[in-house]
Order: sequence, then C-alpha cells, then structure tokens
Amino acid sequence: MVVNKEVLRCGRCGKRLKKGGDNYRLACTVASHFDGYLDLAAVNREPTEVLSEIEESGLTEKELSEQVYFKIEQLLCFDCRREIVEFLKGKE
Ligand SMILES: [Zn+2]
Repeated sequence: MVVNKEVLRCGRCGKRLKKGGDNYRLACTVASHFDGYLDLAAVNREPTEVLSEIEESGLTEKELSEQVYFKIEQLLCFDCRREIVEFLKGKE
C-alpha cells in the first residue's frame, strides 16, 4: 500500500479529496482552429493598428495567449466532475 501524506484538494472548489475516494483528474485543452481561410482585410491591417487594438482591449498577455491555446489539468471532486461533464455535454 502506498502511503502519501500530501493533502489533495479539488482544483475547482477546494474541497479536500479523500484518499481512495471518488476523485477525478481533468485534462483539457481548447485551441484556436484554423480553417484555412485568411481574411485579406485582417491580413493587410497596419501592425500599429493591431497593436492599438490589443492595448485597448485591456487583456493581459496571458489572457491573449489563452484565446489561442488554453490548457488545464487539475484534480476534481465528484460534484465538480459532475458539473463540468454536464456543462461540456451542453443542453439536450
Ligand atoms: Zn470540487
């Protein structure tokens, strides 16, 4: 039997995860999809115009980066796992 004294918590709600309990590991990526189409109006924009738009957005570098590629890995409790799976399945 492996004995690990580390206290594990749900990465979403912070609830303590019981050793040997109904715990789950979430591994998810959301990446920008390139469909092969380039909008010439967007491609031909002046770089300074694009920079101004980025600065005016108020988004951080991390937030901008996550718009292109977002990855999350965390442990989940049973309740958070259920809520996330229901959300991902969407409304039927
Ligand atoms: Zn939780």
